[in-house]
Amino acid sequence: MGFFDKLKQGLTKTKESINDKINNVFKNFRKVDEELLEELEEALIMSDVGMETSMKIIENLRDKIKTDKIEDAEQVKQALRSQMQEILDSVDSELKLKTTPSVILVVGVNGVGKTTSIGKIANNLKKDGKKVVIAAADTFRAAAVEQLEIWANRAGCQIVKRNEGTDPASVVFDAIKITKQENADVLIIDTAGRLHNKKYLMDELIKIKKIVERELPDASKETLMVLDATTGQNAILQVKAFKEAVNIDGLILTKLDGTSKGGAVIGIVSENNLPIKFIGVGEQIDDMQKFNSTDFVNSII
Ligand code: GDP
Ligand code: MG
Repeated sequence: MGFFDKLKQGLTKTKESINDKINNVFKNFRKVDEELLEELEEALIMSDVGMETSMKIIENLRDKIKTDKIEDAEQVKQALRSQMQEILDSVDSELKLKTTPSVILVVGVNGVGKTTSIGKIANNLKKDGKKVVIAAADTFRAAAVEQLEIWANRAGCQIVKRNEGTDPASVVFDAIKITKQENADVLIIDTAGRLHNKKYLMDELIKIKKIVERELPDASKETLMVLDATTGQNAILQVKAFKEAVNIDGLILTKLDGTSKGGAVIGIVSENNLPIKFIGVGEQIDDMQKFNSTDFVNSII
């Protein structure tokens, strides 16, 4: 099965949810009027797109209907798709790995899918012919390192690990050294996510960032925050908390296969002004791809 089919399958719940609501609106379609727009806005809000973003989409749709003199239902649907895509394309989803080595720092709260995503991304990069080193900088539990090691082995990438309780920044320091020695293309750093110990966690991240900045000043760096798509509005609060410590370049959205709330992707992009760089639609190694707005929109409507 190709990824597009997997994506469609993964987004089945979301598609059913959004399609149902939108098709319901068009079931009694008589003409394009204010009532129709209101019903569409309600359908979007009910599909977890978010209030603010749903209002924005409908506002733009209203303009589009006027300028293009849209009168039939199919055209309205098509215009709706393009409005959604426009929001997703207003931010740059391209992963910037311009230098050798480049660095991807992965952050996010516990359980959202950081370690799993790193395994999948490492595997993707490896398939693209890149040499990847993974730093096990979540040193809080030995099990976290073991889990990452399993993924590194699956992807065929080198892992740099130290004993449980080692200062994460020193693991990163060692990993940078090995990345340089091995002339690797990408260093991916796994981190802890214990938000209940927020001050400590944020200090840890700041320290890791500092080491990377100092040792690889000219390298392309991406700090990607992982969000669990099933958490809904709470994800927005998580982004806020992490933004206090590190500058976030993009998001990785996981578990889109387990939720009907995939419409939230559009709201998350719009409200944070942050691009989604990868999406995860399952627990297997090839269940993650670079985010493609066209594929995404076509998979949900
Ligand atoms: P971390 O604590 O952020 O490192 O999260 P983990 O990588 O350990 O993942 C937590 C759980 O989420 C694991 O059971 C993963 O298999 C699961 N998971 C991660 N990504 C996905 C996904 O895209 N889809 C599904 N269904 N499960 C996922
Ligand atoms: Mg982890």
